[in-house]
Amino acid sequence: MHRPEQNLLQGLNPQQKEAVVSNAQQLLVLAGAGSGKTKVLTHRIAWLLQHQLAYPDNILAVTFTNKAAAEMRSRIERLMQASTIHTMHASVHEHNASNLSARNMWVGTFHGLAHRLLRKHAEEVGLSPDFQIMDSQDQLSMIKRIHKEQSLDEKRWQPTHSQWFINHNKDEGIRANRLHDTSNMYNQTLAQIYLQYEQHCRRNGLIDFAELILASCELIQRNPELAEHYNRRFQYILVDEFQDTNTMQYHWIRSLARHTSSLTIVGDDDQSIYGWRGARIENIEQLHADYPDIVLIKLEQNYRSTNTILEAANQLIRHNLGRMGKNLWTESNQGQLIQLYAAYNEYDEAKFITSNIKRLFDQGHHYGETAVLYRSNAQSRILEEALLQYNIPYRIYGGQRFYERMEIKNILAYLRLIQNTDDDSAFERIINVPNRGIGEKTVQNIRDYARQNNSTMYHAANLLLQEKQLASRSYQAIDAFMQLIQMFQQQLKQQQLAAFVEHVIKTIDLAEHHRKEKGEKTEARLENLNEFINAVAQFSKNEQATGSTGQQDNPMLLHSFLAQVSLDAGERQAEDYADAVQLMTLHAAKGLEFPYVFLAGLEEGLFPHAMSADDPKKLEEERRLCYVGITRAMQQLFISYAESRRVRGNESHNIKSRFITEIPETCFELVRAQRAPLFQQRSGYQPSYSRNAYTKHKNLTEQPSPDTGFHMGQRVKHQVFGVGTIISAEGQGDSARIQVHFDDQGSKWLIASYAKLSRV
Ligand code: ATP
Ligand code: MG
Repeated sequence: MHRPEQNLLQGLNPQQKEAVVSNAQQLLVLAGAGSGKTKVLTHRIAWLLQHQLAYPDNILAVTFTNKAAAEMRSRIERLMQASTIHTMHASVHEHNASNLSARNMWVGTFHGLAHRLLRKHAEEVGLSPDFQIMDSQDQLSMIKRIHKEQSLDEKRWQPTHSQWFINHNKDEGIRANRLHDTSNMYNQTLAQIYLQYEQHCRRNGLIDFAELILASCELIQRNPELAEHYNRRFQYILVDEFQDTNTMQYHWIRSLARHTSSLTIVGDDDQSIYGWRGARIENIEQLHADYPDIVLIKLEQNYRSTNTILEAANQLIRHNLGRMGKNLWTESNQGQLIQLYAAYNEYDEAKFITSNIKRLFDQGHHYGETAVLYRSNAQSRILEEALLQYNIPYRIYGGQRFYERMEIKNILAYLRLIQNTDDDSAFERIINVPNRGIGEKTVQNIRDYARQNNSTMYHAANLLLQEKQLASRSYQAIDAFMQLIQMFQQQLKQQQLAAFVEHVIKTIDLAEHHRKEKGEKTEARLENLNEFINAVAQFSKNEQATGSTGQQDNPMLLHSFLAQVSLDAGERQAEDYADAVQLMTLHAAKGLEFPYVFLAGLEEGLFPHAMSADDPKKLEEERRLCYVGITRAMQQLFISYAESRRVRGNESHNIKSRFITEIPETCFELVRAQRAPLFQQRSGYQPSYSRNAYTKHKNLTEQPSPDTGFHMGQRVKHQVFGVGTIISAEGQGDSARIQVHFDDQGSKWLIASYAKLSRV
């Protein structure tokens, strides 16, 4: 029979064992991806408990995402169940039995744990016990109010700048009262706004994200007794993903740990991906300065991935300068080559991904074994569409489904109201988005009036205008809004639907509305709005190709588009515990692992992102992000890029990402939809994926070619677009699509079964 402590150490390599059982007061485990850092951290916690070096309430473990925290907690609980920790502790009478529950451990994210601390000690920091957390939107609204109160000139004083100023100072631990630069009026005003902001927050019992960390640091620093209490309580503080901590988070750890707690820090400099949000990789060096006796352990064996995947990751990251440097190796087999797919366009890419997921499923794998990772949120729409079409359950982790995103709901609400003024919920959503000075009181007024007259809100607003029952400011604002909607209703008929939608977005200046939010979300929101225009363009094209809607019948087209969106946005996302493919951004994938990983959209401009390509520091961060992506894969990795992709309704032609060329060719097996049939006379047009390895050649025909009666290069005629040539194809059965290059209209993708093409 194994002794329990043998179980915990069993299978660990010597360095991992050393880290798990170390007596060092401060321990730094610096190691590459998949080398068992998180495993060491969880085993160390279990070890401490098992050896009664600590009770659960002596432990504080912090990481970056809620998912990682949940994962960590469940790993610890599993380890605790597997060993006999409970029984051993149960014999320790002097310690209250309730302290033995794993629930007493503090395991969470920085924000989550700081929040917990403040909840317990609200009074000590001068917070009302029922304080509320404010998101960046709420924060900005408050700052705007302050600007108004101070009668600041809107052009000179931008609320977003004040917001940045406040957050930046908080992240550096600087309060408003410490900012007295009397030499400079500009800075003085900003400091004054900051001061006012602090007072408003206090008065309203509100607290922003940066404040969570800052206030809890101050709480500990100012209360020696509390510091003593927590210091005694948290004898073991463990931090995962340390490379992404910012200045205040590091202080937060330091103020809780002081000099008596044991610190275990794990991290990987090659996976630092939040520099753009203030993370400081320099904190690793700072650790050495603050704790000269810190014991460094390096883990070099990777247990996660096949040799091929690891080789690709190692070679890629070697292109970064100034790394701490490490040598990651694995005992695992070579594994399959990385499948590299050069797609014609984003649909072709999505098709490649979904058909492979389907194939894996048919081979007996669970959907949950697969993750699709992408650089930017907007990429999910096409992937979602393809997954829905194939009936593959999926879940978007760490983000919302495309049509549920705030900016998309806003534009959808405009379109819904334009299409149908009876839509009260759309009316309510957008009446004051963007802000046109229509307050909640006026909206309530309209609501009440609608109820009294048994009418819709739109109608009630019209009545109120006619009867001149509104105060003059509200009158003007509502009048302008109603005229805007009427104008859109007229314009809807006058241009292509996608152009119309773009026009609406521009006219109401949704971009500016979202630009006013905190920086990091804006870019994603703007990308999503562009992607929305693409979706409309694509939908119109398909509808017109099928002949189901006349080319200029925009109201009808809009109606069908909105109907399709509500179907797509329905409850088709997989249930929480159902087996489902995981979709997420690369940032959200940190710390996770999946047997099969698809990295989509490896194109210059998209990944590395256009905003980062010219700045060597940012480019290195993008490369680390790519390294994170590759190293999520255990068994097999698929990388794809699209030679053309629609951006803002226009086709853009892209070259493959430099990251692909930085990986040795020998790691890849090229998969390519055959273009050869273009020149062959064959009955089926469905491309079969051929794989062309640099090192070996496999002949696979996993995609049967259905006989549709068309072939590549064939001349065909479409009712609307005229005569053209079939140039490519994808999909099967009813969903098969063909691309036709029309002599007058250029290239278009059509659903084969609806396109009503005739031979010429
Ligand atoms: P990342 O940098 O991506 O966060 P990590 O260093 O935290 O990775 P873990 O997630 O802890 O790595 O481990 C990677 C995988 O390797 C896990 O599936 C883990 O169970 C496995 N693993 C780690 N060490 C060993 C070992 N000694 N024997 C067997 N499997 C191991
Ligand atoms: Mg980890």
